[in-house]
Amino acid sequence: MSTSTGTVVVIEDDPHIADLVELYLRRDGFRVLQAADGSAGLAVVERERPVLVVLDIGLPGDLDGFDVCRRLTGGAPSGRPAVPVLVLSARDDEVDRVLGLELGADDYVTKPFSPRELVARVRAILRRAATGQDGGHPPVLGVGGVSVDTARREASVSGVPVALTAREFDLLAHLAANTGLALSRRQLLDAVWGQGWVGDERTVDVHVRQLRKKLGAALPLATVWGVGYRLG
Ligand code: CA
Repeated sequence: MSTSTGTVVVIEDDPHIADLVELYLRRDGFRVLQAADGSAGLAVVERERPVLVVLDIGLPGDLDGFDVCRRLTGGAPSGRPAVPVLVLSARDDEVDRVLGLELGADDYVTKPFSPRELVARVRAILRRAATGQDGGHPPVLGVGGVSVDTARREASVSGVPVALTAREFDLLAHLAANTGLALSRRQLLDAVWGQGWVGDERTVDVHVRQLRKKLGAALPLATVWGVGYRLG
């Protein structure tokens, strides 16, 4: 499965986290270089031309992760293409800033994170970069504690795959591609079962119950009364 590779630069001041990330990425075939602050990180990136940067937000020194991210993704003076960035975030409000400021990060994970999930996300970013499919939804969607890998058709919780039926997976993937939106049972039936499908809308409820049972508290799936369901 290790078909890599390339160099990944990990910019993270917590040596335990940096070592953990390095361990898992190396196991997956990557060469890994660490930097403990933003300036050092930018220097290593400039020198080594990595395929990807794993970037912590809370960094010591003059440059925090936001500054570094902006420089990495904003296009360098030399005109080289921006390097993909996976952000490590300690808090949800940092994620809000990463997303809100449109810093150009390709994905993020919040601490504490599963190293296996991090590796899966690194892989997904590199796949996207390789195939140039920057539009559309990423193949690995993370919602709550659940990862939905649409390419492998695999759902996992903390890196552990969960067995779903084909229909359960399709329903989960559709919800995950539309996080934050309340979807009616009819919309879900049309999208997942197909528009010609004739049957009881409670079919959706049955499948939702199965998803909740199998994925447990990791699945932030809300019932929207009078409408249907909303994920995330
Ligand atoms: Ca930190």
